[in-house]
Amino acid sequence: MKLVLFDIDGTLLWSDGAGRRAMENALLRVFGTTGDTTYRYDGKTDRQIAREQMREAGFTDATITSRLDDLLNEYVHGLDAELSRDGTPGARLCDGIPTLLDTLRGHAGVTLGLLTGNIERGARRKLDAVGVDFTQFRANAFGCDHEERPQLPAVAQRRARDLLGLDVAGDRIVIIGDTPADIHCGRALGVRALGVATGRYSTDELAAHDPAAVFANLTETQAVVDAILA
Ligand SMILES: [Mg+2]
Repeated sequence: MKLVLFDIDGTLLWSDGAGRRAMENALLRVFGTTGDTTYRYDGKTDRQIAREQMREAGFTDATITSRLDDLLNEYVHGLDAELSRDGTPGARLCDGIPTLLDTLRGHAGVTLGLLTGNIERGARRKLDAVGVDFTQFRANAFGCDHEERPQLPAVAQRRARDLLGLDVAGDRIVIIGDTPADIHCGRALGVRALGVATGRYSTDELAAHDPAAVFANLTETQAVVDAILA
């Protein structure tokens, strides 16, 4: 059994503009400031983005925590609008993804999951926007499960145990993502990580973090499947 966990933004799809606008608008409504417009969102969880930005803006952790639910409700509401703005898609699928997912689903020993900083409601909306079936991902960890990404692999592992009735050892888990944070988050569990340079990091930048493999994109389906099943 292999548990294959995909990051969303920069890995399955690209929605940075829509996600960022929705978050900045939500921060503005709930905290009165968008935060630093040069702050990088990639590799971070939604709650981490809000906390780090609003700490920087001078809010206490207690205040930030007390407003997080309101903020995320505003964010999801705004994301719906951003993803369907003017009838044009606010997100696009990365090349090779449909074929790769179809191929992996054809392997009896593979369980698919998501490991993402998105809260679950945001993840569903982004996948819906690019026509990817959310329900094919069966053992997931989201940004609403924990604020810190390194805590998420154990969440997915626990959900896989509940789903499958068996323990999936860390070295049977594969994380695929576009940032150093994806590569590092499963280290404590012995997870294998594959980097893909369809986000903002180059193959060289990702390779410097010592993933099991790194790809420019996920279009070479057989090579990616081989790396996953290795
Ligand atoms: Mg990403």
